[in-house]
Amino acid sequence: MPELSTSVRYIKGIGEQRAKSLEKLRIFTLRDLISYFPRDYEDRRTFRKIRDLEPGETACVTAMAAASPTLNRVRKGMELVKVRAVDETGALDVTFFNQTYMRDHIRAGEHYTFFGKAEVQGSRRTMVNPLVERENSRTMTGRIMPVYPLTAGISQLTMTRSVEQGLAACRDLLPDPLPDEVRRDHQLCHTGYAYDQIHFPDDENTLAIARRRLAFEELFLLAIGMQVLSRRREELSCAPLRDLDLTAFYGSLPFSLTGAQQRAVDEILADLASGRPMNRLVQGDVGSGKTMVAAAAMVCAARSGRQTALMAPTEILAEQHYKGLAPLLEGLGIPCALLTGAARAKERRAVLEGLESGRLQAVIGTHALISPDVTYRDLGLVVTDEQHRFGVGQRSALSAKGERPHLLVMSATPIPRTLALMIYGDLDVSVIDELPPGRQRIDTFAVTGAYRPRIYKFLAREIAAGRQAYMICSMVEENGADDRKAVTEYARVLQEQVFPQLRVACVHGRMKGREKEAVMAAFAGGEADILVSTTVVEVGVDVPNATVMVIEDADRFGLSQLHQLRGRVGRGKHKSYCVLITDNRSEETLARMRVMAQTGDGFRIAEEDLRLRGPGDFFGRRQHGLPALKVADLSWDMALLKEAQQAARALLDRDPGLEDHPLIAQRTRELFEASEGTMN
Ligand code: ADP
Ligand code: MG
Repeated sequence: MPELSTSVRYIKGIGEQRAKSLEKLRIFTLRDLISYFPRDYEDRRTFRKIRDLEPGETACVTAMAAASPTLNRVRKGMELVKVRAVDETGALDVTFFNQTYMRDHIRAGEHYTFFGKAEVQGSRRTMVNPLVERENSRTMTGRIMPVYPLTAGISQLTMTRSVEQGLAACRDLLPDPLPDEVRRDHQLCHTGYAYDQIHFPDDENTLAIARRRLAFEELFLLAIGMQVLSRRREELSCAPLRDLDLTAFYGSLPFSLTGAQQRAVDEILADLASGRPMNRLVQGDVGSGKTMVAAAAMVCAARSGRQTALMAPTEILAEQHYKGLAPLLEGLGIPCALLTGAARAKERRAVLEGLESGRLQAVIGTHALISPDVTYRDLGLVVTDEQHRFGVGQRSALSAKGERPHLLVMSATPIPRTLALMIYGDLDVSVIDELPPGRQRIDTFAVTGAYRPRIYKFLAREIAAGRQAYMICSMVEENGADDRKAVTEYARVLQEQVFPQLRVACVHGRMKGREKEAVMAAFAGGEADILVSTTVVEVGVDVPNATVMVIEDADRFGLSQLHQLRGRVGRGKHKSYCVLITDNRSEETLARMRVMAQTGDGFRIAEEDLRLRGPGDFFGRRQHGLPALKVADLSWDMALLKEAQQAARALLDRDPGLEDHPLIAQRTRELFEASEGTMN
């Protein structure tokens, strides 16, 4: 008897070769197979009488083979089988190329259903290479067919037939992770039915029912996972930090905090004094001064004798934070170090030793901070910057290096409350909705490529005045298929043909960390006039002398991403500009470019982004650190998400340790483990 864990080799037609191909799709067992959902569907339910076939129409025709098929050899290697089929309205001439077996497959006088594209020439109706099956068999015709994402060596038909067999063998073995009462309360169908219908839906309604159930299940497990994490934190108590005096800190700043910064700091101080671990998200637009807010918390931790770790998503950003914070912290007598993957063995050893002994009170770095060999004497505060780039587990991994440390998360991406709950668990939120005084608007223009000569002239003038510029082109994608304007080539042309007298530097995501850093450092030091880049400059890099941001193919970026990029200029005292180049004239693009030109308010831009694109794309691909959702799509399942969150909360209230729901516990673990594996 097959089980869910039985190898796919069990399926008829799946031998060693195809099993190998299926492995590429991560399909090993029957459970994997039937959990491999279609990406789309083809509706083959339209039946036509022969006379009613429209030219070019794809439809099913049920007709009788009027005579035995004939076989013609047109030329070497090309065989035609022809057969005439008739119904009460007319005749259909069917031709098969290189499917010689059709000659024996179709018998005169029998009824078949043909599915294919009809051609009409005068009164003659024809189909070439249609699908054929006996009338009423309805395995490939007369129904909605799944369309699967494929891989070499596996055809759509093989996939479809395999899944069909897989379902027949073990649909009834699928355990249902959803408790009966949850299913009842939220009107969700059974697992087996959902699996049947997601692959082979009877109609649109049953497909919707199946989708809703499976999406709910995903969101429910996700919500359980997030809530378990946050409940675990809530139960904890910890000694309040004993010294929250920030007088010296305020005194050492060259400016006073904005009202919004001060509010955030006060909220943090209240958390730190509460006797429970802080769990706070600070959201603030680019340039709103989040770093200083984090610094205030770091100072409190250090004064109370506890260590701080600040984790940034890239080496460049970690280094910049270090350069900005180290003088401030050390000026206050707080020893501080940088730890990234680029550290030499000797430096690294010194930092590790300092953290272990407690000599270092603050460390700023990348993922290197969560390496297994990093131990802290007494980690009291964890700060993560640009959080949506980290997986949930990475944040926990850093927290796990301390005894219930306080957690502060900084994000420049404003997100709606429901999504925030999903991504950050039950974090408290502080919003910095005010920029430091004296910031000027970044003038933003959207133009077509025809304006390039004028833009180049403008760049030349700015650079002659001593400024610097960024030029961003589309990302070099992981698969290399999409680098329309590969950065290096773009930079070369710019250097050789447009600006031979200027210094053009170039940085992209495929460069090694250290290489990248060297280029960025050179640009920051004024050794290059123009930095051609992919979006690696998106996060937090600070070059106050740069005043122009030119973005090629601007339509290919999300609004929030454009806003982040734009935030790289206007960081000094000089008037700054952003030029968005796109030849895409679609309504949507024009609307998005208009938003960019009209407002500099990141929260408004995020709202518009969400409205125009939906949260599915909101963060860019998989940047939010959530497990990948197979069925649920946050852009239209918001209501379902709320329902799932409620159900998760209710279940955890009844069974906080999930002792009575081992399957839910297991599935949740699997979901999060899978996501950690794919995060970078
Ligand atoms: P964010 O991380 O929110 O994008 P930063 O913390 O990098 O912003 O701050 C941006 C710039 O503003 C930094 O150069 C910082 O020194 C400066 N800054 C921060 N707070 C203030 C303030 N209250 N007044 C003036 N300048 C400030
Ligand atoms: Mg920042």
